[in-house]
Amino acid sequence: MRSQPFASNLTMAAVGVALSGAPSALAQCTPITASQTEGPYYRTPNPETDNMRQSGDTDLLTITGQVVDTNCNPIPYVWLAWWHTDIAGVYDNAAPFDRYRCTQFTDAEGHFALDTIYPGLYPGRTRHVHVKVDSANSAVLTTQLYFAGDPQNAGDGFYSPALAMNITIQPDGVRLGTFQFRQTRTAACSVPALSTEPGDVIAAQGETVTFAVAATGTLPMTFAWHKNGEPLQNDARISGVTTNTLRISGATCADAGSYTCSALSSCGTDSTSGAELSIVGCCVGDIDGDGAIGLTDLAILLTNFGTTGGATPAQGDLDDDTDVDLTDLATLLTPFGSVCP
Ligand code: FE
Repeated sequence: MRSQPFASNLTMAAVGVALSGAPSALAQCTPITASQTEGPYYRTPNPETDNMRQSGDTDLLTITGQVVDTNCNPIPYVWLAWWHTDIAGVYDNAAPFDRYRCTQFTDAEGHFALDTIYPGLYPGRTRHVHVKVDSANSAVLTTQLYFAGDPQNAGDGFYSPALAMNITIQPDGVRLGTFQFRQTRTAACSVPALSTEPGDVIAAQGETVTFAVAATGTLPMTFAWHKNGEPLQNDARISGVTTNTLRISGATCADAGSYTCSALSSCGTDSTSGAELSIVGCCVGDIDGDGAIGLTDLAILLTNFGTTGGATPAQGDLDDDTDVDLTDLATLLTPFGSVCP
């Protein structure tokens, strides 16, 4: 799921102006989006991202819009695949197919925002962007979007005004194209159901932790991981936040918390009840890393009580002097019964 659904405040404002009001505002409801030929250049796999720009790109373009059904109600969590040429009119046809090709999911209101560049021209065609639109209970739509006002449009037999994006130039010079995809929802719909949920994990600092789920239901489906109710973002240590497997490398005390995952499709959603990640050694006295200092911790310490030399914090040596003795017991009893911060 897109926890940060829009590339910028500017983009979000523009979408709000262009597309707010559905489903009641039928005047804003476009005709059912027509399909067009896929052409010879669709390639898979390609990266899931909201930003296809390459470093050094100029002629920037952002495409925003929404996917709605026949009643103009938003369709949530629709899968989109995009591909277009570079500025010179050339497609990326060499694996790993990551230049100006990507997939993304809309948010819960069917909104999408894609940061890319203004595609180039190649012989016989006006400027265009290829796209596939796949919600879990519609036929996959394959079509092309055009740029209203492009002088080449009139000479291209594929061009259709109904598939032309409205283009505005933003104050920062970035072109903004908007388009509403309207689809008929017909196919059977099976709501996502999480069949496997992750269990609680106790990890050492620096360890790699993975949480994984399995889900059934009509595809396409995306996932959203949260920690303590807050959406997670991929970064240098955390990956897979929109996949069924979350990976946290180099775990730190700050990673401790409750992790939940939602499976999301146009048919519905399902969420896990939550798995606790506890990091050992982050809370003195919490020997078992369960986030509280309690009877289990006391039992571990008492079991090892009297050990001299070689004892570890996991055995109850809380003051790190390799013994488990009265000092350790006092260290544990002082916060006994409390929850780790
Ligand atoms: Fe093309």
